[in-house]
This record gives sequence, structure tokens and C-alpha cells, in this order.
Amino acid sequence: SLANRLQKVFSKLRGKGKLTEDDVSEALREVRLALLEADVNFKVVKEFIAKVKERAIGQEVLQSFTPAMIVVDIVNKELTELMGGSQSKLARSNRPPTVILMVGLQGAGKTTASAKLARMLLQQNHRPLLAAGDIYRPAAIKQLQVLGEQIKVPVFTMGDQVSPVEIAKNALQHAKDHGNDYLIVDTAGRLHIDESLMDELKQITEAVKPDEILLVVDAMTGQESVNVAESFHKQLTLSGVILTKLDSDTRGGAAISVKAVTGCPIKFVGMGEKMEALEPFHPERMASRILGMGDMLTLIEKAQEGIDVEKAKEMERKMRTAEFTFDDFLDQMEQVKKMGPLDQIIDMLPGANKMKGMKDIKVDDKQLGRVAAIVKSMTKQERQNPDMLTPSRRKRLAAGSGNSVQEVNRFIKQFDDMRKMMKQFSSMMGPKGPKGLKG
Ligand code: GDP
Ligand code: MG
Repeated sequence: SLANRLQKVFSKLRGKGKLTEDDVSEALREVRLALLEADVNFKVVKEFIAKVKERAIGQEVLQSFTPAMIVVDIVNKELTELMGGSQSKLARSNRPPTVILMVGLQGAGKTTASAKLARMLLQQNHRPLLAAGDIYRPAAIKQLQVLGEQIKVPVFTMGDQVSPVEIAKNALQHAKDHGNDYLIVDTAGRLHIDESLMDELKQITEAVKPDEILLVVDAMTGQESVNVAESFHKQLTLSGVILTKLDSDTRGGAAISVKAVTGCPIKFVGMGEKMEALEPFHPERMASRILGMGDMLTLIEKAQEGIDVEKAKEMERKMRTAEFTFDDFLDQMEQVKKMGPLDQIIDMLPGANKMKGMKDIKVDDKQLGRVAAIVKSMTKQERQNPDMLTPSRRKRLAAGSGNSVQEVNRFIKQFDDMRKMMKQFSSMMGPKGPKGLKG
């Protein structure tokens, strides 16, 4: 996958010592190939790489103490920017109902997305109304009715003998009369964009003046979906895109290109056939997902703010040589405390869910004090060699620190877990630990 490929590129970068300009260029060449293979629009890729390169060279990555991280960071930020920067929310009219017109080709997922969106609004305590505007496909009305029943949202229909324009107008009046604050109008699609489809959609637009025209596109069709978006946008001036079937899209290129090509933000993504499988689109999260790094970058930023670089260098050396001791643990706890709640930090680590036990660690002053007491009850040798802590020694530590044996055991377990995490962390940063920290 794209995430896999990009991760490989970046880990190669981390595996090197200081980066040369050639290293950066080579890495970006591979990023470029990975994006093209993921079916990202050629022009988009070209501009993207040029921007990243300019920033990478301009920011003196090469002199930086964490060059690989900065390259990753730049790629991440540019990717986020490319997808719209920040989340683009659903419009809300100050004269309800807010009218949402759903458009797109046949089979893109309009009817499904209409119902999903209605369900989401209902959950946010709104009173959505769905309108069945697809009078052409057999059973299209029934499909919406079934979904409406399932999610407990009313569906307005007038059968299939009335024009979609009339249906939309009447639905709007119905919504006003019944206090519905959102009206979602499902429409028909065609297999290809044609004039009669566009004409009809334009007429509906004129009749009900939608606050949102959302184009529903199938992510599985890759670049084609971007072309579709471009054509619809030219004709209808879309306000946003819903990218469906992202659950089955292995390449993901559409998510990256849509905004760049059309200027229209992706507002939601469909992640499955079920009604709850609709998510607001967050460019920054999508970028992290694409880069396959959890919220690594946030973590790195926090680490850079909170951690004493000299100490981190020393710590990094110890992690590598497995010299990490209880004294270091105490130090580390102090550092981590500066970075914020540990459970949040752990959440940001890739593969963090594998380290469930870690979540029990609370770094507050009280806890720190108790831990410090345990460590201080240890002999010098014990502090250097956790393996020495036999049950009888643990009993002694408990008595000496005013804790129960269970508490001492728990702490030693936490220490072990932390050592494991450090190992994982350092291997993630590259075979020799976080590069820059070597100075
Ligand atoms: P429409 O013709 O645009 O109204 O498309 P439909 O809403 O009828 O959806 C067409 C097919 O795509 C249906 O079988 C849906 O269940 C499926 N579908 C819609 N959205 C998604 C999605 O996000 N993921 C997956 N896997 N299937 C979807
Ligand atoms: Mg439909």
C-alpha cells in the first residue's frame, strides 16, 4: 500500500547518518513514484514534490539535528495542505432548513450517503428529512425508504410520476412545515455525465437553492473520480465532495487529488456499507494515515518541545546499549511529565494498541513521588540490574518505601513495559535511534 511504501522510504532516510541533498532527492523520487502508483493525479504529484523539495532544501534540513524527521514532517504538512488543510464542515443555514443536494454518477453511493448523513445529523440532535428524488432507477425510492426506516428518519416521496424538481420543491415546503432543520435531497445518477442529468440538477438547484451541493464519488475509480468531480464542479459549483468506498480503495489516490484538482474540499468519507460508516474528513488525519505513522508527528513535536536535548541524547545512547536503569526511568518520567499525559502520548505511537498495559501508567506528582521512593530504596546494584529484584528484595523495597509488595511489583512491571516501549521507539526511529540526537 501507499502507507507501506512511504514508510519504507522514510525508514531508509532515518537509517542514514547526516542527509545529503542527494539523499533527500532520492527519497522524494521514491515518494513521487509511490504517489503515482497510488493513482494520484500526475500534475498534483509534480507540484507536490516541487513544494516539498523547496521547503526541504530551504529549511536547512541538512544542517538540522533531526533531518529525517523534518523531511517526514514537511511531507506530512504539504500532504495535509494538499487535501484542504483543515476539516471542512457541513454548511448550516441560519434560515432552516439547510438544504443539501446529493449528486453523482449511478452507483457512486448517493442514496447510501444521503441516509448516512441523515443518521449523523439525527445523532447530533437535528431533525433531518430525506427526499427521494431518483425517479428513474427502479426501486430507488424503495431503497431510500428502507434506509430511512432503519435509521428512523422520515423520507419524503411523491412516487416516480412527478418530476424531481417538483419533488424537491415540495420536500422543501414539507420540511418547513414540519420543523425539519436539514433537507437531504437524493437524486438520480447516470452511468456517464450527460446533458439531461446536468440540466435536471441545475433546475433542482434553481428551485430549492441548496446550501450544499455534495458530489458523491467512488474512491475505487481512482483518477476517474477526480475527472468526474471536475466536470460536475464546472457545471454545478459544488460545495464539497463525499468520497465513498474508501474502505475498499487500496490506493487512495483520489483522496489526495480531489481538492487539488477541483478546489472542492472532501467533507466526508464513506468507509463501508453500514449506516454508521461515514466519517468527517480530516486532512491532517488522512495525511498521517497515508504516511502510516499514527500521530507520530505530533509526538515528535511534543518531544522536541518538552525534552532536554542533552538528556535525550544520553537517554538515546542508553536505550541503544540497553543500559537503561531505574534511575533513568525516574528521569524519563520527569521528561514525560513535561510532554503531557502519558496515555495520550502512548495513543500517538504507531502500534500503541499493542501496548495496552502502558496505559495504566499515570505520571502525576504523587505517582512520581511513590516511584521515586521505591527507586531510592534500591541499592546501587539493584538500580542498574532490574533482574536482581527477587521476591525477597521486593518485599524489602516495599517496606523501605511505604508501598505494598503489589505496588512494587506493578512498578517493576511498568519499568519493564517502558523499557520495551523505548526499544520499540528507538527501532522506529531507525536502527541507531533518533538520528539527530547524536548531534
Ligand atoms: P447511488 O446509485 O449513487 O445512489 O449508489 P448507492 O447508494 O445505491 O450505492 C451503490 C452501492 O455501493 C451499494 O451496494 C452500496 O451499499 C455501496 N456503497 C455505498 N457507499 C459505500 C461505502 O462507503 N463502502 C462500501 N464498501 N460500499 C458502499
Ligand atoms: Mg441512488
